[in-house]
Amino acid sequence: MSKGLPKRSEDYSLWYNELVKKADLAENSPVRGCMVIKPYGYSIWEKMQAQLDKMFKETGHSNAYFPLFIPKSFLSKEASHVEGFAKECAVVTHYRLKNAEDGSGIIVDPDAKLEEELIVRPTSETVIWSTYKNWIQSYRDLPLLVNQWANVVRWEMRTRLFLRTTEFLWQEGHTAHATSKEAMEETIQMMNVYAQFAEEYMAVPVVKGKKTENERFAGADETFCIEAMMQDGKALQAGTSHFLGQNFAKAFDVKFATKEGGLEYVWGTSWGVSTRLMGALIMAHSDDNGLVLPPKLAPIQVVIVPIYRGEAELESISVKAKEIMADLRKVGISVKYDDRDTQKPGWKFAEYELKGVPVRIGLGPRDLENGTIEIARRDNLTKETFELSSQPIATKISNLLDQIQDGIFKKAIDFRASVTTEVNSWEEFKKVLNDTGGFVSAHWDGTSETEEKIKELTKATIRCIPLGRKEEAGTCVFTGNPSTGRVYFAKAY
Ligand code: AMP
Repeated sequence: MSKGLPKRSEDYSLWYNELVKKADLAENSPVRGCMVIKPYGYSIWEKMQAQLDKMFKETGHSNAYFPLFIPKSFLSKEASHVEGFAKECAVVTHYRLKNAEDGSGIIVDPDAKLEEELIVRPTSETVIWSTYKNWIQSYRDLPLLVNQWANVVRWEMRTRLFLRTTEFLWQEGHTAHATSKEAMEETIQMMNVYAQFAEEYMAVPVVKGKKTENERFAGADETFCIEAMMQDGKALQAGTSHFLGQNFAKAFDVKFATKEGGLEYVWGTSWGVSTRLMGALIMAHSDDNGLVLPPKLAPIQVVIVPIYRGEAELESISVKAKEIMADLRKVGISVKYDDRDTQKPGWKFAEYELKGVPVRIGLGPRDLENGTIEIARRDNLTKETFELSSQPIATKISNLLDQIQDGIFKKAIDFRASVTTEVNSWEEFKKVLNDTGGFVSAHWDGTSETEEKIKELTKATIRCIPLGRKEEAGTCVFTGNPSTGRVYFAKAY
């Protein structure tokens, strides 16, 4: 099978788009900026969802569901929130179509105008806090720890499959607390949950940090984030966790009776990751042959391909293959046996390489005679002949999957280190951004003006103020004004 993928080194953007389509992950839809997530892509998303959902529940959250439509007046209740989202809202104005009287086709019925327009949710703080008003009366109702899995719509102008789409799938956590301290702890906890998921499951190393005022979520007092590095030296915001202070409680009048008999506004958080994580996964690990998936998120972890001539050979190979499959399934490894006779083994090899299946087992007549199998790794494209009598196959493959998971994580860490540079002058700043890209760690004077000026001149934004950074006196790389520590700049998706 010819993959015909463009090379990453020649056109990263084209390589990404082609890979998403050729690996059967997603395709463009008739509506610009929206995408069709295909079954193979969706099965990876489902694995992400399942793990994240487990982690949310382990930290005490429950799932609920709130409506897709938000009355326009709700959105306006929190001033900075509406200001941030107004530019990208889809608005429902009518509820009916009709046949045009002149026979020109179906038109919007002008008599079916909604009294109040509805916003297709770009995020659900407003509708959720309007509900929380009814759910929260006393300190006994707190904390309220809710998550929802949903789709949202943000009318994005420059879209790219998975990374930035007009409609996307996500989860949004919305919690309410009695104290500021508790809400801040929750905000940090969920950022840590995201970081753990990214590193342990996606094998994508992330920088944890705080956003600058410019990049903060509209309506939040603080936004925390995890930032990942892609193979072309561009950063990607992979998840955000917001400390909302009492902003939404005040906007929706959500107060609670304290233990001491007082009445106070509730403290809030919200946090989300989206199908953008699929983009991060693809961009962080894949190569010119196709996807490279971390075993923990691969829908198929092992594929067995029989190499045979004629029915009789296939039959005896199948007996062995099914034995191996049963052994692997017993320990929870997902295996596919591809005995289709419509495709040649070479075609299948290329296909599973493209789809990023971590381990391929080849089984031919000579293997049957010798009691061996051929094991091929997707991540580093190496092969070995394995003697089935030397070790239980389930142990062998389990260990191998762990090694692959660790291996691609380490590779991503090494890559990120190779494109993370500390710079001390404006010349150096521009040169590094141009030559290698990546994270540029530099002193900044803490003003939005400088941040904006740098963005204008270089397209680089402050990705975050890294948590636990060294507090050190320095001078801003652009203005020369005093700074108290370094921040991470990068060009970003
Ligand atoms: P926010 O509510 O803006 O903090 O975004 C929550 C999460 O959704 C973040 O992890 C973003 O990276 C992600 N996200 C924001 N906009 C989009 C988009 N247009 N397409 C996909 N993911 C997005």
